[in-house]
Amino acid sequence: MKGGATAFGLRFSPILNGHHAAAPPLSSGRVLVLNQSYEPILICSVKKALLLLFLNKAELVESRNGAVIRSVRAAYPFPSVIRLHAYIHLPYKKVELSRRNILRRDGFACQYCGTRSAPLTIDHVIPRSRGGNDTWENLVTACIPCNNRKGNRTPEEAGMRLRSVPRKPNHIVFLRNFMGTIEQEWRPYLFGE
Ligand SMILES: [Zn+2]
Repeated sequence: MKGGATAFGLRFSPILNGHHAAAPPLSSGRVLVLNQSYEPILICSVKKALLLLFLNKAELVESRNGAVIRSVRAAYPFPSVIRLHAYIHLPYKKVELSRRNILRRDGFACQYCGTRSAPLTIDHVIPRSRGGNDTWENLVTACIPCNNRKGNRTPEEAGMRLRSVPRKPNHIVFLRNFMGTIEQEWRPYLFGE
């Protein structure tokens, strides 16, 4: 990596600390941020994490494979997980009820047959014509064949079973599902492993 990031007037360039573990470039590295309670709350850039560490707003919990970031005066572990010193009361942003978010919650899989390949629609578990509402609990992802087969019936009437109980997702579910690649060091905080 050429150059490096600059923060606080210091120039950082990730280098290897003995071993041949690759230090990810600062620009692409991602850091898991834990609340004071150790609850994962968001993902931030390495630069932002360094800022929080330098400002003493957070502490380093896990670093990446012995990689270090070296400044003129010192070397710092490459952050992978940090924990905020203060507890942040999150307004627990409501996950918006939308077609896209129903699909995301359901992992883009039909909740009746499990397919991910057929075109997907949104099914009212209790049909709208029968008093079913637009709620997280009553909307599920269904492929077109399953939706057609079910028609204007409840799953019981159609002899179809939902693969999981539809629930309102919280932000942690979305964090887990949508953070993309999960760094090894994050797993204990995300999955309790
Ligand atoms: Zn289906």
